[in-house]
Amino acid sequence: MDLAVFSSKAYDQRFLAAANTADRYRLVFLEPRLSHETAALAPRGSAVCAFVNDDLGSVTLEALAANEVRLVALRCAGFNNVDLGVAARLGIRIARVPAYSPHSVAEHTVGLMLSLNRKLHRAYNRVREGNFALDGLLGFDMAGKTVGIVGTGQIGTVLAAILTGFGCRLLATDPVPSPACAGLVRYVTFDELVAEADILTLHCPLTPATEHLVDDRAIDRMKPGVMLINTSRGAVIDTRAVIAGLKSGHIGSLGLDVYEEEADLFFEDLSERAIADDVFARLLTFPNVLITGHQAFFTEEALTAIAETTIANVSAFERTGRPLHEVTADMRASRT
Ligand code: NAD
Repeated sequence: MDLAVFSSKAYDQRFLAAANTADRYRLVFLEPRLSHETAALAPRGSAVCAFVNDDLGSVTLEALAANEVRLVALRCAGFNNVDLGVAARLGIRIARVPAYSPHSVAEHTVGLMLSLNRKLHRAYNRVREGNFALDGLLGFDMAGKTVGIVGTGQIGTVLAAILTGFGCRLLATDPVPSPACAGLVRYVTFDELVAEADILTLHCPLTPATEHLVDDRAIDRMKPGVMLINTSRGAVIDTRAVIAGLKSGHIGSLGLDVYEEEADLFFEDLSERAIADDVFARLLTFPNVLITGHQAFFTEEALTAIAETTIANVSAFERTGRPLHEVTADMRASRT
């Protein structure tokens, strides 16, 4: 069977080739993002491997179905970019990688917190320019601070364990509390969480219920000077509301690994071009904003696990007609 890998980079090729033992599948690496216009690049009847910013809306799925594609194996955990109802109607199975080193994302989240708190991104530039002044670099002890975790699934749970080591007081909100978090966090409502957190960090999936969860109203209820971190999905935050909060000073600092409109920016070298997205460009002007380009997952361990699970999904589909980790329309309903 052919496996057509869209949005593929050199690192995808390296890790997928290693996981494809004995050259079991013919890997067809395609640089373009998956869309209705590029769907025909997949060899007829192949399985398709897609990533976070690939378009799996109804028109693309129709094009894939016309190309006799019966499996889309996402090489990520989130599946907010897939029209699951249309996929089911067309008989296309959707697979994902539900778990692949939650440590990668949790540790990157802590990296953003520490960098913003101690202004490491600014200190790095200062020292390189021979400026050893400390004014403007004042931080705070993480110990004793209240961290609000939105979503205590795999990543939120690992984060809770790490921050326990820092001596933080942990509050969390999740419609399905995690037994692994018992004793680590105190579960409260979202409104209580935002009102009490010194640091608010997002680890829920993007669903209709979590889209723009952090909006004007939520920001108004936050503590002045709050640190806000988002490594989940961009649209969990209303970026315009957050910019207003940064301008007023109500939000003290912002760390992002994801952005609502990241599909037009992230994973590409655009350094020779002007950024056309004025909202994103505005974010870059704040000294207390630190943005990484969706790299929280990007560790050796995570890429190895993603590649191995993707091949296992294809292999199970080939043997049984169903991938190992299938995403079904009722999963979205249960997560909202
Ligand atoms: P998970 O499914 O294990 O956990 C998500 C948790 O969020 C669940 O416990 C769920 O009950 C909870 N949740 C759902 N709706 C909620 C709501 N309204 N309020 C609070 N909690 C809610 O997922 P995970 O592996 O921990 O990943 C979390 C998210 O992180 C993913 O959905 C994905 O979007 C994102 N992610 C980002 C990267 C990255 O590189 N930046 C990598 C992996 C995952």
